[in-house]
Amino acid sequence: MRYIRGFREGAAAAALARLIDAEADRGRQYHLMEFCGGHTHAIFRYGVEDLLPSNVRLIHGPGCPVCVLAVPRLDAAIELAQRADVTLVSYGDMLRVPASRRRSLLKARAQGADVHMVYSALEALDIAAAHPKREVVFFAIGFETTTPATAHTILEARRLGLKNFSVYCNHVVTPAAIQSILDSPEVREWGQVRVDGFIGPSHVSAVIGSRPYEYFAQEYQRPVVIAGFEPLDVMQAIRMLVRQLNDGQACVENQFTRGVTREGNRKAQRLVAEVLELRPSFEWRGLGELPYSGLRIKSGYAEFDAERRFAIEVKAVPENAACQCPAIIRGVKKPTDCKIFGNACTPRTPVGSCMVSAEGACAAYYKYRRGAVQAAG
Ligand code: SF4
Repeated sequence: MRYIRGFREGAAAAALARLIDAEADRGRQYHLMEFCGGHTHAIFRYGVEDLLPSNVRLIHGPGCPVCVLAVPRLDAAIELAQRADVTLVSYGDMLRVPASRRRSLLKARAQGADVHMVYSALEALDIAAAHPKREVVFFAIGFETTTPATAHTILEARRLGLKNFSVYCNHVVTPAAIQSILDSPEVREWGQVRVDGFIGPSHVSAVIGSRPYEYFAQEYQRPVVIAGFEPLDVMQAIRMLVRQLNDGQACVENQFTRGVTREGNRKAQRLVAEVLELRPSFEWRGLGELPYSGLRIKSGYAEFDAERRFAIEVKAVPENAACQCPAIIRGVKKPTDCKIFGNACTPRTPVGSCMVSAEGACAAYYKYRRGAVQAAG
């Protein structure tokens, strides 16, 4: 806590709020997107929005690992888990995400499927070693923060000579999602979503560095500030974005200098490059098919690729018509625009992925804004 309290200091937050208020030009609007759900939760938890002038608006982006997983890929994981010879292993949030026909991995487990929750990808190797007659599949999801662990686990599986272990790889990359937002018709043509600058996730940049964002800053003329997840980190990043926009600049700045460099973690990058490669195209929930936005296992490690081992088929399914997750992920709608927010859909009875994860926008609204929403309604 010693190193956290300083970044939650109320007096410092008030001082930063006064600076933002003084520097934000009353004659213009500032629309800033926090890409990551971790930032969304920090913003709600500490009431950051309430400290900002009314012309500085925050838009919640798609950076929630379980929210952006396309339903057909989750369906395929459930079908894999239902095989008699398979033990499916994944992170806890993933188990509760609703798939098509109101299914989930948790419900599949209740019906007899062998589904395990783990905190680390390496735990899947222990399960595989302990159950040599079972096919143990790690259902890998997430952005660049979890990708190196998956790559390391595959290398470890080879070193240990495990023959009954494979990975269903669904990792995605952050810069491709930001580019898709900037290229979307809502931003480029229809003006439905205005994004003047981005607050970038520091845990992603601890791995990939700040350099991959330089392209957007230059090409799309949008500033990016890589920020930590404490309230003062977020507020300082907002001030940095306001200043850049006032000065007509669009460059990448690093607020989280205590953990992020321009180059990132070279060792982690080498691990990923050894085992994984970009797919030509990958489907995201809400964003559709995006070129070079997801990772697959390289042919040199094909024996650990569950998609090849089990000939996994990903079949298109319609979205639940009541759920607005796709529009929320794109920043077009807010959770409170969904008619079943807080009634049919709650964290206990999630209808969409955005209500499941600790990083989902609907879960953040439900946890921190429900009272205000009910009072206003
Ligand atoms: S409230 Fe539930 S159903 Fe509505 S958009 Fe959010 S997750 Fe989907």
